[in-house]
Amino acid sequence: MSELESLKRRALDDLKTALDEVGLREWNSRYFGKAGEILAALKIVGSLPPEARKEYGQQANQVKVELTQAYETALAEQKQKSLENSLSAEKLDITLPGRPPRPGRLHLATQTLRDIQAIFAEMGFQVFRSREIESDEFNFALLNMPEHHPARDMWDTFHTTTPGVILRTHTSPGQIHVMRKFHPEPIRVILPGMCYRYEAITTRSEIMFHQVEGLVIGTSVSMTDLKGTITAFAQKMFGDNRKVRIRSSYFPFTEPSIEVDMDCIVCAGKGCSLCKKSGWLEIMGAGMVHPEVLRNGGYDPAKFTGFAFGMGPERIAMLRHAIVDIREFWANDLRFLSQF
Ligand SMILES: [Zn+2]
Repeated sequence: MSELESLKRRALDDLKTALDEVGLREWNSRYFGKAGEILAALKIVGSLPPEARKEYGQQANQVKVELTQAYETALAEQKQKSLENSLSAEKLDITLPGRPPRPGRLHLATQTLRDIQAIFAEMGFQVFRSREIESDEFNFALLNMPEHHPARDMWDTFHTTTPGVILRTHTSPGQIHVMRKFHPEPIRVILPGMCYRYEAITTRSEIMFHQVEGLVIGTSVSMTDLKGTITAFAQKMFGDNRKVRIRSSYFPFTEPSIEVDMDCIVCAGKGCSLCKKSGWLEIMGAGMVHPEVLRNGGYDPAKFTGFAFGMGPERIAMLRHAIVDIREFWANDLRFLSQF
């Protein structure tokens, strides 16, 4: 038997002892690798006498082809076998109930914002969105708070590294944007969005929160329109029997300014822990648009009047769902969020 013949037999016998894919690959590198026996056998051709080279070369190639085929067949069989094994071992019970996907949901603040928008949409209000990064001018000066005005201290402000550019402390700068866009047409809009204040975080205050601001401008808009609008909102949001009262207040951009209270949703005015025994819950600030603000928006205060109001959707949601800590809104705790 020639050496090539005995190499072939030995290789084929070895191949039969390879029990799995790993064994087969080991076999392959043993015979066909760079230091493998096949390569070594082919290299011998050069050292043979010329008349023997052709025959040896042909035989060597023949052996190489046969062994390659044997290896590939064995590998394919092995793969098929392991597929069959895994199919029979890992049985799939298609009669088991499926794993339900966990549906996402809207954040409570977004839900509340949408409820508020829907109520005002019914009353003919449009939604006007305004930028969150504002100029000092729009956030303060045009809203009747010139530089050094003491009312600026009502808000601690996040300033950017660009002088005069800040994160808006309220949605009111949107009033100027919307007025300048629509004047001299009448306006009936709400301005929802996120606001930022550099404040200590407590159960009642956060550094970021939503506001919804309302603005109505026309030729005969009065305080009674304001009260009627707010009462209609409170009743749609909190129930038909809600009563609303107004107290005088101060904001630089409204004159006169008011705070709006609603009778307590828990005790209906009798006094409980939610309303701190007062019977009333504060829901928003409001007032008649200051003539200076009207002028800054492009409206003649001799011809036009308007009212504005602002509320916090988080505060509204806290009242509706008896939530005691505003920090829950941005803590990203699913145990809280998935309740709503
Ligand atoms: Zn109460």
